[in-house]
Amino acid sequence: MTSTVITHIGELTTNDPARGGPLGILEDAALVIEGDTVAWVGPAVDAPAADTYVDAGGRAVLPGFVDSHSHLVFAGDRAPEFAARMTGEPYAAGGIRTTVAATRAASDEQLVSHVARLVQEMLRQGTTTVEIKSGYGLTVHDETRSLAVARQFTDETTFLGAHVVPTGTDPAAYVDLVTGPMLDAAAPYARWIDVFCETGAFDVDQARTILAAGHAVGLRGRLHANQLGPGPGVRLAAELGLTAVDHCTYLSDEDVAALRDAGTIATLLPGVEFSTRQPYPDARRLLDSGVRVAIASDCNPGSCFTSSMALCIALAVREMRMSPAEAVRAATLGGAEALDRDDVGALVPGRRADLVLLEAPSHVHLAYRPGVPLVAGVWQRGRPV
Ligand SMILES: [Zn+2]
Repeated sequence: MTSTVITHIGELTTNDPARGGPLGILEDAALVIEGDTVAWVGPAVDAPAADTYVDAGGRAVLPGFVDSHSHLVFAGDRAPEFAARMTGEPYAAGGIRTTVAATRAASDEQLVSHVARLVQEMLRQGTTTVEIKSGYGLTVHDETRSLAVARQFTDETTFLGAHVVPTGTDPAAYVDLVTGPMLDAAAPYARWIDVFCETGAFDVDQARTILAAGHAVGLRGRLHANQLGPGPGVRLAAELGLTAVDHCTYLSDEDVAALRDAGTIATLLPGVEFSTRQPYPDARRLLDSGVRVAIASDCNPGSCFTSSMALCIALAVREMRMSPAEAVRAATLGGAEALDRDDVGALVPGRRADLVLLEAPSHVHLAYRPGVPLVAGVWQRGRPV
């Protein structure tokens, strides 16, 4: 097993609570990788010898980003819809149907190459773990192949047959399909099941039914909820004890209390509000109330086509009043927690050696220098990429 020491790290974000602060920062640090795992972290002066030596030159190193919410399996382009929205048209859930038609028409090879391109794009920007949903097929065949494609790139795959009711389909009959033959075919390729619980998509009773059907075949629940307006989705997530509920833009005091009491993570997707000109979620209120928060990209062709976690961090800081440290934590360890993963999201011995070297002296630069490509190096499972 080969070992690598990365030394002269000006600022190492470990996310180790034992080191204090939100990020467990260690200055003048070194980190040793053995195989695919972090083997040692400590002061540079104490670093043990290794086969390969990397000089970070005083720059910052942090865990690879964990993007816990994306919709990468799709075809087609919705730039015209974006342009129309930017000239005054509102975002509505129905735009998903445009992508569904293009995705059904695409070949398997086209879908694979498209996802490969986006995953590579994410990796170059420091995202070393990504969750990928289905949801643009909406037939047994197309949902199943979407998940089979996603599975080629990540273990964190989510069945989102309940993204929107296909045009011309009876909603009750579609829920029967999603919870029956579609679920049976999709489940072998999925770890999670998700529902777009929103006006214009699925109501809370349908969401409850769909999540229960997924649970019965061993899938774990997630929800899109309270994105476009207030609603009961977030409270359902808390009631069911889901690991995470995503969007959380419109929350009542009862919703916030329910999240805190259940320990359900609020995954905030500020790229969506940026790209749709909607109000941002109130991250400060959530954090001050004791709710755990993650940040993800929601990379998708309709409401937010960014793959940049750095942009999401900058937006979280500028628009959602998170501190740079809180935002970086939410985009790394927060994402890992939202996927219930204890092997990524932190740089402590035993965790996967997924890390990012910044062309900057500190994590703050991710928010301080928005739009600047600061990722100078990425290691995934111990290997430079
Ligand atoms: Zn989404």
